[in-house]
Amino acid sequence: MTTRSTEAYRLPAASMANTRTLTILRYGAGTGGPKAYIQAGLHADEAPGYLVMHHLIAELDRIDEQGGFRGEIVLVPAANPIGVAQWRDDGLQGRFCFSDGTNFNRGYPDLTDAVAERIQDRLGADPQTNVARIRRALGEALDEIKAEDEAAHLKLKLLACAHDADIVLDLHCDYQALMHVYIGESLWPTARDLAAWMGAVVTLLADDSGVTPFDEACSRIWWKLAERFPQHPVPPACLAATIELRGMADLSHTLAAEDAGNIIRFLAGRGCLAGPPTAAPALTNDATPLAAVEHIKSPVPGVVVFLKEPGESIAAGEVVAEVINPLRSNAAKRTHSLRAAADGILFARSADRFARPGRILAKIAGRRPLRAAGENLLTP
Ligand SMILES: [Zn+2]
Repeated sequence: MTTRSTEAYRLPAASMANTRTLTILRYGAGTGGPKAYIQAGLHADEAPGYLVMHHLIAELDRIDEQGGFRGEIVLVPAANPIGVAQWRDDGLQGRFCFSDGTNFNRGYPDLTDAVAERIQDRLGADPQTNVARIRRALGEALDEIKAEDEAAHLKLKLLACAHDADIVLDLHCDYQALMHVYIGESLWPTARDLAAWMGAVVTLLADDSGVTPFDEACSRIWWKLAERFPQHPVPPACLAATIELRGMADLSHTLAAEDAGNIIRFLAGRGCLAGPPTAAPALTNDATPLAAVEHIKSPVPGVVVFLKEPGESIAAGEVVAEVINPLRSNAAKRTHSLRAAADGILFARSADRFARPGRILAKIAGRRPLRAAGENLLTP
């Protein structure tokens, strides 16, 4: 007998005569092993994650036929039914919510205080018992929050599906980019196998990015509680990561099948599947601080000509891009060069070629932090 079940969860209506549905697939429930939660499309205009889900579902169905689960795997193949309907001027706009302009992957609730209050007298000397108690308290705390609108309700439902998972993978992509992974510093180097399996060229570490994206809402509470209760063992029990599946247009069955296969191999290594795990490959580049990512911005408007490609190593002082404004009278002033401040790897850049002052045009992973902890370390 197969284990797959499907939940069609109806979000509360935000407009008359319209409701949206969140589809949740579950495999291997009740097998007793670890729980993994994987979602795609939280930024609904990022296509590669949906295609990886297509391949992942085919693989998991096959594993299910063979009775191959040793843990529960929950998939939300299209995590943002609100964003995926936001078409404007023939383009899908799935990053910011049309109703209030907020980024769908920012501002998730911090439940540390609510959980701490519930568990302060219930923690003991056994880490696994503490994990179970904290997860229960987390579920209760989530249940008590009242969502004000449809988007807030969606956020809470996604968190409710993921709050008791050992592994949370949030599939995204950048504009033009190489495979990279965002993960909590407290999860490193334990989570090295994830970055290695995914073939991450860059792995960015931060315990607090300042803006609470989904993965951080799932993982950060564990090290905040450990800090709050130093007399009791509280392990970082949720390995949550944001996986950036290269760029917006990097879509092919070859890439997506490979990515899905690597997720499966990672899950097998973590004990979610039957059979002996395969050893993870080597990681190309060691992880670096998220606070060391240099955002290349232009102080002037114009069109952008990149002189460097994603994946190139950049030396401090090198020109990464030129911003050209043909209206400037002086020939020398028509070109404004944008230089890197520090050494690093160019891993992402914008998809279009327009600069306005302050806009992030490229990202370089350096080694030395450029910003303080708690500052907003992510892009808008
Ligand atoms: Zn994204």
